[in-house]
Formats: sequence, C-alpha cells, structure tokens
Amino acid sequence: MTDCVFCKIVAKEIPAHIVYEDDNFLAFLDIHPQTVGHVQVIPKNHFRWVWDVPNVGEYFEIARKIALAEQRAFETDFILSKIVGDEVPHAHIWVFPGSGAKGDKKDFATNKQKIIENLE
Ligand SMILES: [Zn+2]
Repeated sequence: MTDCVFCKIVAKEIPAHIVYEDDNFLAFLDIHPQTVGHVQVIPKNHFRWVWDVPNVGEYFEIARKIALAEQRAFETDFILSKIVGDEVPHAHIWVFPGSGAKGDKKDFATNKQKIIENLE
C-alpha cells in the first residue's frame, strides 16, 4: 500500500529504530513510546488487522521474543501487549514494559541497542 506509513518503514523509505527483522516480520521502536522500549511488531506484508495475518502463530512467536528481550533489557517481568489497530491501518502488536521499567523512553538509540542485545 503506497500511503501506509508502516509499509514505508518496511521498505526503508522512512527511518525507524528496527530491533528485529526476518523474512515476514519487523519490529521497531514506537516514535511515541508509552514507556521505555515500546515496540511495534508488524507483518512485512500489508494486512489491515492482526486477525488477517495468516501465519498469526509465527507472528505471536515474534511478539514473545520481543517481550522476553524487554524483560531482560529493562529489568522487569511486567511486559504489556496491546492490539488495537485504529491508529495505523497496518496490523501491529504493541509490546512494552509496564511501569517501573528502567530507562529513558526517549533514548531510542540506547533502548534499541538494549533490546537487540537481549534477543535470543
Ligand atoms: Zn501497510
């Protein structure tokens, strides 16, 4: 989709702090973070809703991978996840630490590095 901001991030036409990428999925820091290390996990192909993604099991495995990395990166077990979908018309899962996580939510470079270092 040509006007979709997340498709443009996938195509690298818009810069983003990417923390994970494989053939089908991409995860990057939200530009307006709720908390430190707030990540959006998206399918690379354009789907309107999370529930439209056919390999949704694989999709949730990636969301879990990010959540586990955030636990280690920000020293908290409390990781929230949210599926809404009305802000950007491209499927996305929010994965972000709850209150009490350590760090500065606007320090994107550090938070990106911390998540990448803690991915397994
Ligand atoms: Zn899109």
